Amino acid sequence: MTAAFETLRAAIARDHRLEEAEAVRRLRAAQPDEPASRRITAHALALAGQVRAAPLDPLSAESFLRHYGLSTREGVALMCLAEALLRVPDAETADALLREKLAGGRWALGDDPGSWLANAADWALMLTGTLARWHDAADEDAAAQLKRAVARLGEPVVRGAVRQAMRILAEQFVLAESIEEAVERGKARAPYRFSYDMLGESSRTGEDAGHYFESYARAIRVVAAGSRPGRDFERDGVSVKLSALHPRFEEAKRARVFAELLPRLLSLARLARDGGIGMTIDAEESERLELTLDLFESLARGAALDGWNGLGIAVQAYQKRAPAVCEWLVALARDARRRVPVRLVKGAYWDGEVKRAQQLAMADYPVFTRKAATDLCYTACAARLLEAADAVYPAFASHNCRGVAAILELAGGRADFEFQRLLGMGGALYEALLAERPVACRIYAPVGSFTDLLPYLVRRLLENGANTSFVHQIADPAVALEALVAEPLGLLPEPYVPDARIPLPRRLIPDRELCLGLDLSRRDVLAALRERVAEDRHAAAAVEPISAGALDSALARAAHAFESWSRTPAAERAAILERAARDIEGRTAELVSLIVREGKRTCADAVSEVREAADFCRYYALEARVKFGGPLALPGPAGESNALALHGRGVFACVSPWNFPLAIFTGQVAAALAAGNAVLAKPAEQTPRIALRALEILHAAGVPPDAAIPAPGDGETVGARLVADPRIAGVAFTGSVETARAIQLALARRPGPIVPLIAETGGMNAMLVDSSALPEQVVDDVVVSAFQSAGQRCSALRILFLDEGCAQRVLRLLAGAMRELKVGDPGEPDTDIGPIIDAPAREALGRHVERLRASARLVGETPLPAGLPEGDWLAPVAFEIALEALPESEIFGPVLHVVIYSRSMLDRVLHAIGATGYGLTLGIHSRVQGFVDRVVRAARVGNIYVNRSMIGAMVGVQPFGGEGLSGTGFKAGGPNYLLRFVTERTLTVNTAAVGGVTELLAPTGPL
Ligand SMILES: Cc1cc2nc3c(=O)[nH]c(=O)nc-3n(C[C@H](O)[C@H](O)[C@H](O)COP(=O)(O)OP(=O)(O)OC[C@H]3O[C@@H](n4cnc5c(N)ncnc54)[C@H](O)[C@@H]3O)c2cc1C
Repeated sequence: MTAAFETLRAAIARDHRLEEAEAVRRLRAAQPDEPASRRITAHALALAGQVRAAPLDPLSAESFLRHYGLSTREGVALMCLAEALLRVPDAETADALLREKLAGGRWALGDDPGSWLANAADWALMLTGTLARWHDAADEDAAAQLKRAVARLGEPVVRGAVRQAMRILAEQFVLAESIEEAVERGKARAPYRFSYDMLGESSRTGEDAGHYFESYARAIRVVAAGSRPGRDFERDGVSVKLSALHPRFEEAKRARVFAELLPRLLSLARLARDGGIGMTIDAEESERLELTLDLFESLARGAALDGWNGLGIAVQAYQKRAPAVCEWLVALARDARRRVPVRLVKGAYWDGEVKRAQQLAMADYPVFTRKAATDLCYTACAARLLEAADAVYPAFASHNCRGVAAILELAGGRADFEFQRLLGMGGALYEALLAERPVACRIYAPVGSFTDLLPYLVRRLLENGANTSFVHQIADPAVALEALVAEPLGLLPEPYVPDARIPLPRRLIPDRELCLGLDLSRRDVLAALRERVAEDRHAAAAVEPISAGALDSALARAAHAFESWSRTPAAERAAILERAARDIEGRTAELVSLIVREGKRTCADAVSEVREAADFCRYYALEARVKFGGPLALPGPAGESNALALHGRGVFACVSPWNFPLAIFTGQVAAALAAGNAVLAKPAEQTPRIALRALEILHAAGVPPDAAIPAPGDGETVGARLVADPRIAGVAFTGSVETARAIQLALARRPGPIVPLIAETGGMNAMLVDSSALPEQVVDDVVVSAFQSAGQRCSALRILFLDEGCAQRVLRLLAGAMRELKVGDPGEPDTDIGPIIDAPAREALGRHVERLRASARLVGETPLPAGLPEGDWLAPVAFEIALEALPESEIFGPVLHVVIYSRSMLDRVLHAIGATGYGLTLGIHSRVQGFVDRVVRAARVGNIYVNRSMIGAMVGVQPFGGEGLSGTGFKAGGPNYLLRFVTERTLTVNTAAVGGVTELLAPTGPL
């Protein structure tokens, strides 16, 4: 491998989140010149004219979405139904879903918009083409009669009709249920070539990955046997998704992926080589790109595949680093002396890429924010691939007339490339093109059963329905063709700026910067963290507990410091906290290492903690500016001024737990300081060094040393002494209910003022799943919610309630997904689950698990690997229990209890959740809004999460804290939290005491 090749590879890593203006600047130079651009526009216009004039198949999705785009209520309803209806096993839930999605809306005939039955009938008939035919024949009466007739037949018939319609819609995008049938159908569609895609999304379990492997292998054999002869890359082929072939296809699992996935991939590639056909690796999420490329390189360089030119790969032009990827592929092909088929696509996961970058507060997006920039990138990449025809065989996958015209212009007279389209899309365009000239065109044809196609179908509906999408716009007569094929360069602002509606991830919240996240999908970042933790491993020095005398003097010093700190202007206090936030952010690696070593949290958990700590500082700083900026003037009688001001209360005791050793500690202290209090902070005995480091950072940022003093030690001596001291003006506590009670009693018993106790305690958190939920998504969220941080989060899921309709599938997936987790040293970035915090906690959990083993059904268990380092290990485990056997107290570890319920039991389930007395977090997975509403109405909990995991509350976005046994409120990271730390004072001045009521006698405004 040459240094030049390595440099190209490095550019791909470097450009992942390249600044967008720079990425666009590089693309401008690679665009066709003006005369070429004019020719492209003219050709594109001609093609677009033909596409628009082509009669639309009334059964096509294009036809349907012409009426119902995603910006319409009906289009969204369609997508929701498409996503869920086919998998719902029971009539009741299916009807609820239909009723909800089809009530209202303006469907084809719309004469009875209130009736969901009429709408459903309308819709079903529309999709099956029946109505459309009547519409075309302008026989409105007949159509209306038919619709009413179907609606009268009632729910079962309409449900059946809509399901049937759904299948018809799905058939637009799926060639056949079996590969044999697909190949037969493909043969009938000459001159099109085919690339068959075995439907299915990423695997959650090893078993699923095994099935996908078998199904790909079979597909390759069948396609090889049935395909027309030709050069390997020109014959029919197969597309594979690497995430389907391995349940943990992630950068952090690189070693495992190379050990397990690469051999599978090699066997498939050998089969394809032996059969003389092509195999293309699909492009997936941007975090998976580098791993994909490295696997691809291993295959491409391997002698085992010599002489085969069918090993292909897809490149997404919406990624800013697409040009770097093309460059690297060209170099790889030349280096490895093989011709590489490269399928250039724009990319199918744009919205997901944007959302993930925002959630992780990345420095920038991996994708462009403007569609025209994606188009520029597509053209630039196409030009590069066409230039390198010795090294690559380019395939241009697009349904965009301008894109196609641009390729033909760039290609000149060359024919050594092909176009590709998706089944069910772009038909008219390629028919027009084929009528015009003999170009090679391939159809990407998904194959598989209807239940496997839902995520694929949704992606296609999103693509067809999105406002920016070419296929959507060409179906809309209101969009002028000239605008549709306009030169993308002309659509970009000059100088270039990204789309203002999509601010940089860390600028998402208008008035506050988010803490920059670490990109854990990057190999160098993971390696650096691993090294840092290993280097720091022996750097620990014991922290001595504070003595009674030292505590006494600390209290005195803090009381003294309070006087000046509370009078420091709020803006100044805020600026200090913001400096601390910057410092925390700048020290991410150091703090992550400390949290991993002392708090035994995984690297990913530790990164989230650092972000949360910095976000707390910035959030409370902002809140202090707003709430303490000046007194609030109150209305009152003439001749009097009234104002309300907030003040710090005095010295706050902040008592924090080991499970968020940095974030909760810093959050409590920052809130108390922001509100003008001095603080004595007692960290958990297990994690004092993290706390001391946080205080050092606060002091360095400008908090006077005596305004925030550490009080390390255990709860019984230091904690108890601290809260019992009459100089303490309030307590912020996070921990168990028992300790919170003990603190409450201590506060009640001591002499002096009655002071507030802000307590955040535990939870018996439940998740309710109905039969419309997507099992894969449920399992992803259950695994994260129940087992991340070894279940040692107060928000963690403890009891999963599964509707009997989906329970078996969810449990099978869950058990498989649990087997894929790695329990181990938290300093290794591929570890999913670290140890339990200490031996007593491990023993208590162990006893609970033993009881369950004897009394409940084991659902799944993560294997404990051999050779674990010394520690208190407990593998994630899940048991099915009866509703009557719910645990009575919080089980603070990776132990999940599962209850299977029937719909008729829902009220009892809701009652049982309420009867625990806790009220912290609750998860709901359902596509039926009525179900969600019913659960939300019944719930008495602080934080409810729908169709997502129930941990990882974001500061200022999901203010966090419970009710009942789970806490006193107000919520941490919420707009009312600081109010718990303050006292209010009013100031009333009789302004008429001197002279008269001047504002009456000499008014400045109208009286
Ligand atoms: C044969 C074939 C194979 C495919 N294989 C893959 C694959 O392996 N992996 C994959 O991800 N996709 C794949 N796709 C899907 C493909 O990405 C979409 O079909 C494609 O994006 C549509 O492009 P277009 O030129 O037809 O449409 P156009 O409407 O011209 O472009 C749509 C593209 O613009 C992007 N876009 C929309 N708004 C913005 C914005 N504001 N800023 C930036 N970009 C924006 C969209 O995300 C989309 O990528 C494949 C498609 C085909 C035809």
